[in-house]
Amino acid sequence: MSEGERLTELAKRRGFYFPSSSAYGGAAGFWTYGPQGAALKSNIEDAWRDRYVVKEGHQEISAPDVMPEPVFEASGHLDGFDDMIVECGECGATHRADHLVEDNTDIEEAESLPNEAVMDLIAEHGIECPSCHTSLADQPVDNFNLMFETNIGPGSSSPGYLRPETAQGIFVEFPQLSEYARNQLPFGVAQIGKAYRNEISPRKSLVRVREFTQAELEHFIDPEEDEPPLDEVEDVTLPLYSAAAQESEDGGERELTVRAAVDEGVVESEWVAYYLGVSKEWYERIGVDMDRFRYRQHLAGERAHYASDCWDAESEVDGDWIEITGFAYRGDYDLSKHAEHSGEDYTVFKQYDDPITVERATVDPDMSYLGPEFGSDAGAVADALEALAERDPDAFDGDEVTVEIDGESHTVPVEETNFSVDEVTENGEHIRPHVIEPSFGVGRIIYTVLAHAYETDEVDGEERTYLDLPPEQAPTTVGVFPLMDKDGMADLATDIAEDLRAAGLSVTYDDSGAIGRRYRRQDEVGTPYCVTVDYESLEDSEAQRASDSASGDEPRAGTVTVRERDTTEQKRLSIDGLADRLEQLATG
Ligand code: ATP
Repeated sequence: MSEGERLTELAKRRGFYFPSSSAYGGAAGFWTYGPQGAALKSNIEDAWRDRYVVKEGHQEISAPDVMPEPVFEASGHLDGFDDMIVECGECGATHRADHLVEDNTDIEEAESLPNEAVMDLIAEHGIECPSCHTSLADQPVDNFNLMFETNIGPGSSSPGYLRPETAQGIFVEFPQLSEYARNQLPFGVAQIGKAYRNEISPRKSLVRVREFTQAELEHFIDPEEDEPPLDEVEDVTLPLYSAAAQESEDGGERELTVRAAVDEGVVESEWVAYYLGVSKEWYERIGVDMDRFRYRQHLAGERAHYASDCWDAESEVDGDWIEITGFAYRGDYDLSKHAEHSGEDYTVFKQYDDPITVERATVDPDMSYLGPEFGSDAGAVADALEALAERDPDAFDGDEVTVEIDGESHTVPVEETNFSVDEVTENGEHIRPHVIEPSFGVGRIIYTVLAHAYETDEVDGEERTYLDLPPEQAPTTVGVFPLMDKDGMADLATDIAEDLRAAGLSVTYDDSGAIGRRYRRQDEVGTPYCVTVDYESLEDSEAQRASDSASGDEPRAGTVTVRERDTTEQKRLSIDGLADRLEQLATG
């Protein structure tokens, strides 16, 4: 079994995740998180919220999953959010064309090639339909838009789409969000929520699905003024696989500190470098194995046209590198697009410390002069003169001034423009913020964390599987067992389980089967501690109670065994203060 197959088998058996709607044959690319998986997912989301919202001082919002069509016209998704599709002429199965090339040749990132080039590679390498093994050589490679379409309300007059990324829900609301931030840059807005992509070929369980959770942060900055607190992460070492390294014959990964990566220009944007540093520590905290992790820079052809510096965090599972997070410097692309399409104001008014006096050139063209002469172009000429005065007042130095509209020149006597230069006081200016975006795929992170936590060893001559999840991430912190269901052990164990729950720990109570089997069950879901109530616990309790009451003290409880998951070592701990002790152990 491959690493991925072993994981999927464990995930199904132990309730981490399984294919959805299987009673009705299922639908590829949809997975249900079972009790263990849902607990792990919410722990990872909490850890994300703690680091990227609370510690960074950002805000979190929750926007709708369905948004109207104009949002995606503006964002570019309607026109350009496509993958390459090839349909088998024989059996009708559809496949993602670039993935077929990557799977059947040693070419990586076929995604960044034009459709025709991918078509040629399919023919050249004799690539067949994976479903019926017919050659795909003569089949066209087309674009397939990944958005799920729906109708908002009855009828089809108001199309909507399930969002393919959570980010647009933040960008669209920028005017309100900026007001809440009192127009003070920098500020960050985060969102954890569902995203939907009608993937052509879902695969590798949680890795490529059609409905998934993203955790995205949009950090809005003033590009002229704001700098990241780089010193907080400057010593963090980054495993970097730069574009240059990928393109050179013998290039490979390089470890550089955040500071060195910036100084050497390997990571161009200081903001991106900052978030790579923050994230490296965060991935370690949640249990990603740093020996199977790297940051890979996008190659020039792969980069979205608006993003100047793009890196992916990648984890290795089964020998494949999986993109788990994208980091992009998106500039002002998104806010400009929404401003252009909606006509709303997507800027921030930046107040100056002290008002400044500037010379402002203005025009007030004589429309009666422009009217007959310029016909219906008069308004456009007036606008063009106004823009020119602002941009290049020197153009009004002579007797005549010329503006171009749709490639046609219009010449106007300067006198008729009423050109003047006046001194005005300005209190501030409107600026369009730039955006840095770390975009995390929660499902791929869960898949990575589970794959990297999967361990086997031998205990009492038998092979054992366990997940060495960090206690903070483990779905259950402590399993509580009575050694046997008799002589009051179950009662004491139930009381202990209740106390631990009341103290806020996540507890599983289990009294079925041999104790060894119960330990194995908890090992397989990564529970870091198991508490067992045995005869000694009862004796301790009784002996202690007797001696306590003889000495006039409040009767105390006795001891239990606490077994640690990775070492399987057991020690006796007092029931008194057990919750605190376990919490201390769990938080290190
Ligand atoms: P890919 O190239 O693998 O399709 P992408 O570059 O399109 O991914 P982004 O648009 O950058 O992905 O999305 C940000 C994150 O969302 C990714 O890093 C990934 O973790 C997650 N993600 C994207 N598509 C999927 C999917 N189909 N299934 C699960 N997670 C996904």
